Amino acid sequence: MSEEKKNLQKENPYAAALWMLDAAAEKISLNKNIWERLRHPRRCLIVTLPVMMDDGSLKIFEGYRVQHDYSRGPAKGGIRYHPDVTLEEIKALASWMTWKCAVVSIPFGGAKGGVRCNPKEMSRAEIERLTRRYASEILIIIGPDKDIPAPDVYTDARVMAWIMDTYSVAHGHSVPGVVTGKPISLGGTLGRKEATGRGCVFTTIEAAKILKMDLTKATVAVQGFGNVGYNAAQIFHESGAKVIAVSDSKGGIFNSRGLDPKKVLEAKEKGTSVCDYEDGDRITNEDLVTMECDVLVPAALENIITLKNAAKVRARIVVEGANGPTVPEADEILQSNGVLVIPDILANAGGVTVSYFEWVQNIQEFFWSEEDVNRKLGEIMVRSFNEVFKMARDHKVTPRLAAYMLAVGRVAEAIQLLGLYP
Ligand code: NAD
Repeated sequence: MSEEKKNLQKENPYAAALWMLDAAAEKISLNKNIWERLRHPRRCLIVTLPVMMDDGSLKIFEGYRVQHDYSRGPAKGGIRYHPDVTLEEIKALASWMTWKCAVVSIPFGGAKGGVRCNPKEMSRAEIERLTRRYASEILIIIGPDKDIPAPDVYTDARVMAWIMDTYSVAHGHSVPGVVTGKPISLGGTLGRKEATGRGCVFTTIEAAKILKMDLTKATVAVQGFGNVGYNAAQIFHESGAKVIAVSDSKGGIFNSRGLDPKKVLEAKEKGTSVCDYEDGDRITNEDLVTMECDVLVPAALENIITLKNAAKVRARIVVEGANGPTVPEADEILQSNGVLVIPDILANAGGVTVSYFEWVQNIQEFFWSEEDVNRKLGEIMVRSFNEVFKMARDHKVTPRLAAYMLAVGRVAEAIQLLGLYP
């Protein structure tokens, strides 16, 4: 990799996203015009949000909604509240959504939104006012046929309910299909909360078959104990694997005899962190990433496996619950050390897949059982895993590059068929 590209990547997450697009485009000999089109997000909306704080002061927050591509259907992607949110990060996340929806063949394009704020330091009322103002500012580009937000880091079903309400008030009737990941009582789907973690487990089961690994004897370490991490840990635990370590932003805990994720969650909810769970040794996030285990699930943020620690990763399978947890150079090191990486756009696609089911149910006003949701999710995850790994074998490329080749090819076909306007 050239020095110029390395520096770009450190400074700019969107450059890292383009890196994979370029690699896949080159490999599939993508039409140059379509390639150029895909390097630019279709729309980027920047909004400033005046919010009355509880102490009577007015604070201005900056928010974004980016639609990378919607050739294959309405744009789809989560909303993130975090102090480090930038437009470049949201552009990267939006493009990953385009590839993710294409890799699992669901009829959506890619979008993402975010507000630069620290929700941990805000009251619930302040978060509600921020959310409603953000929703009203992006109202012009979202909608069930246009762009459908969902939860991401530090947003949840409650936040989706406020967005649905703000949108519905503006339209004079209830519009459940404008968001997914909403509460069940407002038209959310059974199985959505667990879907991303469940998808990680479905793909790990397929990867374990390749490695002839018995998952019921496997040890699992999970970084990030939020929606994705907790549910992945719990479903691995229910499947008989031993979850030996979990962590959150404050640090982690380790127990070689195994942890019960439900009990760890109870301790976190009573206190503030998984570190409040007593039956385990305190470890750092770095210890967790490099510990001896069969399956490592990075399920927190981007840039966790880097040039600094990639050579120390001892897991046999890395299943990327988070978006962008491995930087491209680190990926090369993992591959050369024989670590089987299930790339993010495949591994964590369970969330958007069940979001798609939720949207379908909202449009049809007909709801499915949880068994139906999980079965259909399993079919899509297993089929997509096998398509990606067949592509990797056929073209002798990494699973990540194979996933991008599949996804970019599918999006390019749609763009080609739609033609260029005007
Ligand atoms: P969340 O807010 O529910 O949980 C995030 C967790 O990460 C929290 O436990 C937090 O303490 C922890 N964390 C934050 N910073 C950390 C750090 N520096 N080190 C270790 N832990 C840290 O968020 P989530 O919805 O679970 O999303 C996690 C990741 O999964 C993100 O990359 C997100 O984009 C991706 N993702 C989420 C979904 C979904 O359905 N929620 C779907 C696909 C991908």
